[in-house]
Amino acid sequence: MTDTQRTRTATAADVRDLVSRTRGFIFDLDGTLYVGEELIPGADEAVERLRAAGKKVAFVSNKPIGTRQDYAEKLNRLGIPASVDEVINSALVVARYLQKHRPGAKCFPVAEQPVIKELLEHGLSISDDPEEIDVVVVAFDRTFDYGKLNVAYRASLHGAELIATNPDRTCPMPDYDLPDAACMIAAIEACTRRRVEPIVGKPSAIMLREGLDILGLRAEHCAMVGDRPETDMLMAQRAGLAGVLVLTGVTSAEDLDALEVEPDYVIGSVARLAEACA
Ligand SMILES: [Mg+2]
Repeated sequence: MTDTQRTRTATAADVRDLVSRTRGFIFDLDGTLYVGEELIPGADEAVERLRAAGKKVAFVSNKPIGTRQDYAEKLNRLGIPASVDEVINSALVVARYLQKHRPGAKCFPVAEQPVIKELLEHGLSISDDPEEIDVVVVAFDRTFDYGKLNVAYRASLHGAELIATNPDRTCPMPDYDLPDAACMIAAIEACTRRRVEPIVGKPSAIMLREGLDILGLRAEHCAMVGDRPETDMLMAQRAGLAGVLVLTGVTSAEDLDALEVEPDYVIGSVARLAEACA
């Protein structure tokens, strides 16, 4: 670590100050609380101590191909007690966004079951009739095919809105990355000649606004903890939350001199939040 990198890291007093004035912590998952199937050492204790100190917690993920139940189960399996209601993924966010802005809309999902389930649970309905579709909902869809593309295109010609869950190009997997929602978005934008927007997942502020709504807290009382400057930290900045960057995921100490987005705090690992609760 160079001197600059060392001075960029938050001091114990900084972290204590952050914890004392923050009422809610929103955590990214992979690279922040776990890597793949491995818990980040001390992440369980950090979440437990924050809860014991009366802080609210939530967990965010862009990935729309798992249910919130799946994420809650994984966190519990790794030793972080979490309820379904504390998990916020882009499938939930797109459903909540549409429930607010297009209540009862007829949606055509270019998406897998977890997105469809959230849409139905939020009072939206599903249709594949291009003349009656109000909104085409685009997501990471491993069942994407020409038939779906054609329905989305024809719905667009009839004036349907186009909205998406997340902008990721690829999704990291243990063996090799998978093409993600950006690929479905690109195909639909190519034929419709229209932008798919909004894209509600990270780095959109929409995701954190829904998170704040779910926690019942204001932005200035919350912190977003994550490992990616260009998504987690950018989203925090856009939504007005403190951005706390950890170095247990994609960002390393060597990257600190040239970050795309400046975090408010840099901590080595979420474990440091536990020390601040002592
Ligand atoms: Mg991450």
